[in-house]
Amino acid sequence: MESGTLRVRGARVHNLKNVDLELPKNRLICFTGVSGSGKSSMAFDTLYAEGQRRYVASLSAYARQFLGQMEKPDVDQIGGLAPTISISQKTGGANPRSTVGTVTEIHDYLRVLFARCGTPHCTECGSEIGAQTRDQIVGRVAALPANSRLHLLAPVVDNRRGEYHDLFEEMHRDGFLRARVDGQIYSLDTPPELDRYARHSIEIVVDRLVLRGDVQSRLEEAVDNALRLGEGSLIVAIEGEDDRLLSANFDCVKCGVSFVEPTPQMFSFNNPSGMCGDCSGLGTCVLISEKLLVPDSDKSILDGAVEPLGDVKSNRWRYHLYEGVAEHLGFALDAPWSDLTEKQKKGFLHGLGDKKLDFNYTNQSGNTWTHRDRYEGALDSIEERLHQGNDKVRRELGQYVRTERCSTCDGGRLRREALGVLIDDQTLPELTSLPIEESRRFFHDLRLTDEKAIIAEDALKEIRGRLDLLNDIGLGYLTLDRGAHTLSGGESQRIRLASQIGSGLVGGLYILDEPSIGLH
Ligand SMILES: [Zn+2]
Ligand SMILES: [Zn+2]
Repeated sequence: MESGTLRVRGARVHNLKNVDLELPKNRLICFTGVSGSGKSSMAFDTLYAEGQRRYVASLSAYARQFLGQMEKPDVDQIGGLAPTISISQKTGGANPRSTVGTVTEIHDYLRVLFARCGTPHCTECGSEIGAQTRDQIVGRVAALPANSRLHLLAPVVDNRRGEYHDLFEEMHRDGFLRARVDGQIYSLDTPPELDRYARHSIEIVVDRLVLRGDVQSRLEEAVDNALRLGEGSLIVAIEGEDDRLLSANFDCVKCGVSFVEPTPQMFSFNNPSGMCGDCSGLGTCVLISEKLLVPDSDKSILDGAVEPLGDVKSNRWRYHLYEGVAEHLGFALDAPWSDLTEKQKKGFLHGLGDKKLDFNYTNQSGNTWTHRDRYEGALDSIEERLHQGNDKVRRELGQYVRTERCSTCDGGRLRREALGVLIDDQTLPELTSLPIEESRRFFHDLRLTDEKAIIAEDALKEIRGRLDLLNDIGLGYLTLDRGAHTLSGGESQRIRLASQIGSGLVGGLYILDEPSIGLH
């Protein structure tokens, strides 16, 4: 069997006239010709179809039933054929959750990298947070200048009201001699009388040390005791210097806010534990525009000023709600829209929150009853239809809405905690918003500390390799956060080729359809 070439004998698919063809393997081969000359008939309908058919035929009967039987193309003989993979022009569908980063799986490796090697920062004050091991804490204390005189304190009350008689007594019983109360050291024999209505901070003095050579084991014991008593935090106090707060938890020691340890899921905008809650991880919010909603402000609500509401009298129930809110806000439904105050317009469109109003409902037989309820706003039904609606409703209502960048995540799609995790001072969305040729340079230049470099090795290797590949196939101008549905056919085809090659499968025959279409 000659395996170095691919041989086709007597291909007659569509308009092919008994074509014979020999193609070298492991080469990039281009079919060119005028429209209708049979390029696609040879590439897709003969080579791809036969490669697929033979591959499927080699599977078990059980597997075949899911794939369907493929028809043999009209060709006498094909030799040296490898399994074929077709990458067509069709774009990745309209799913706004797919990006260049997710399609190429680079985003998955970025998530791992950020979870394992990123440095979390407090979402309140921006200062660095990080859990330290007990040994790291001991090491940091031991690294203070020799002969430092220090108090090792366990924080037990942080800025809370109370007298704390029992606490002082209990600590004294447990053998502790001193406590620092509101910055002042007291003996627990004679604890201070505290104002029960004022806020206090209390730290137990676990040990007093002078940092000398022989102090190590005593220091370790003191750190253990302080961390136990302080539930993971301890304070190193040196006279005349600022306190050093060390924590074994993921806490912001300044704000006292606790964070969870970063996980890869936290960096997925398609996962509820990672997505920004205000935009559901889309990075954009849909807003209804009043200008578009009310094209002619000389009309009254009754005349149909609010266009998407249609004829407001047609629905008896909705109409009585509008009457109720108009009466409550003091305007007439037949007054021109432009005569309404901002408050009246806003109340009518967006509702009055939890406030309850009286509504009078008259049914078809003329009977009236009064009920007291919240008014949700005329747009409530529109927004609801927009979010649940099918494509037709969306198209119909879409003309009244505009899409804006989400202000909570600033378009970054992720929850705030994830946006506080930095690598080399960059957030994940900042990196994915760079053109690939630039993010590629960032990851090649990235130098991590020894420990992190080992943890990051695999993920970083994948990220670098895939970014290089995308850059090499001429897509360096794209960004990883670019929506897959906004790519041109050629771009999307190349990206899928890149993820195929990135998957490490070898020996296949890749068939592409006009891969240069729509490229920059
Ligand atoms: Zn903070
Ligand atoms: Zn958001």
